[in-house]
Amino acid sequence: MRPENNIESIRKKIEKNLRQLPFMEHATKLASIRGERVYVVGGYIRDLIMGVGKKDIDILVVGDGTGFAVELGKLLGIQEVMVYGNFGTANFKFDDFDLEFVAARKESYNKESRNPEVVPSTFEDDISRRDFTINAIAVSINEDTFGEISDIYNGIDDIFAGIIRTPLEPDLTFDDDPLRIMRALRFASRFNFSFDPGVFEGIKRNAHRLEIVSQERITEEFMKIMATTQPGIGLRLMYETGVMGVVFPEMEKLGGVEQVDEYRHKDVFYHTCEVVDNISRVTEDVWLRFAALVHDIAKPQTKKFVEGTGWTYHGHEEFGARMMKFIFKRMKLPFAKINYVKKLVRLHLRPVAISKEEVTDSAVRRLIVDAGDDLEDLITLCRADITSKNENKVRNILKNYERVMQRVLEVREKDALRAFQSPVRGEEIMSVLDLKPGPQVGVVKTAIEEAILEGIIPNEYEAAFKYMLEVAGKLVK
Ligand code: ATP
Ligand code: MG
Repeated sequence: MRPENNIESIRKKIEKNLRQLPFMEHATKLASIRGERVYVVGGYIRDLIMGVGKKDIDILVVGDGTGFAVELGKLLGIQEVMVYGNFGTANFKFDDFDLEFVAARKESYNKESRNPEVVPSTFEDDISRRDFTINAIAVSINEDTFGEISDIYNGIDDIFAGIIRTPLEPDLTFDDDPLRIMRALRFASRFNFSFDPGVFEGIKRNAHRLEIVSQERITEEFMKIMATTQPGIGLRLMYETGVMGVVFPEMEKLGGVEQVDEYRHKDVFYHTCEVVDNISRVTEDVWLRFAALVHDIAKPQTKKFVEGTGWTYHGHEEFGARMMKFIFKRMKLPFAKINYVKKLVRLHLRPVAISKEEVTDSAVRRLIVDAGDDLEDLITLCRADITSKNENKVRNILKNYERVMQRVLEVREKDALRAFQSPVRGEEIMSVLDLKPGPQVGVVKTAIEEAILEGIIPNEYEAAFKYMLEVAGKLVK
């Protein structure tokens, strides 16, 4: 679909959408009264063109952005307009919308500092300083030009071509604010867009500049990549641009293949990307996805070539679990999640082991106890870990996991029986058999419970009562 053919219909669609926003009439009138040019810009317009709804709206005011926000807030009866004076931005919530106001500005970056100096500027300057062409499309909300699209850098073409491109030179864009590198990766992952060659090279050249960006902002973007439909797209691009080496070096080390004689091991990095994509098809839980990401993280440290056997990675699951503390700390990940991730990493081979042999109940029971509430997640991870292209093999492994879950259900059922109580209670045993509290009551009760477990009598009151009378003569002296 060529956007040129549709530009008029795109304009109409956007105009109609903007008109029906519940605050728009007030915003348009206010812009006339204040004599300022006002635009909706960025993600809202981008997603609208892509046919995706969105609740956060960025509004660009050529003039006094915070003043505009405060007055509009008053007109809408908003209690609290948040104003950030230093950056000339303001925001408030209205209905379910999150409105973000910004004055047209230019940012001047100091090489050593993370905080740019912000100075008021023209519309064109502001737009040119935006990160990507797909985010640099603005639509007027002034009455005289309502719905007119300003697309100085041909962002609409890039949306339809699926390309991430920067308005200015990529090196300048990424050097000014290296976080844009992470944003580029996130948008590529989320929309399955590719990088313009200049952007790809620019990211490669500037990846090391991410070192000046705060870990919190990097991690936030990284986890947003993990939340996309196919995080593997972003992860592979991170690897191929050298960003992984800066942001998550342990992951980068998974890449590469070694060969001894005819033994070639698989590339653990690309395998991991597949596992993450597999699991992302069945869960939106980013921590389960994260566990999939790091499940093999210690393979490089434990890799060994054994004559006649091939490549082995003994203990990588335990070693990997132990690496989490350091990784969570460095990446400032929430410690509330570390035990969950560690558990899945540590246990990720256990279901395979159980599915292979004739295992005892106690092995199954140990897995149930060790995995606790996370057993289903563990099995989800194991299923996602199958990346073989051999359909028969895949089918067999999946069947094995079904068997494991079947065993788990069986043992759980049995254990539930173990934990049960005789349907005839102690009080009644004492009164019917005329016993004082003491060990004899317990002996009778245990006998009834054993009889039920052994299947001699059903787990019912009538049968238990009858059985009690039968055995009482033998057991009670
Ligand atoms: P989403 O909200 O879906 O994550 P978005 O594009 O709306 O995407 P925001 O972070 O809300 O992203 O930013 C709003 C707009 O501000 C962007 O579309 C872009 O035009 C601009 N922008 C945001 N961050 C930067 C940045 N680091 N450098 C340049 N421009 C940016
Ligand atoms: Mg936004």
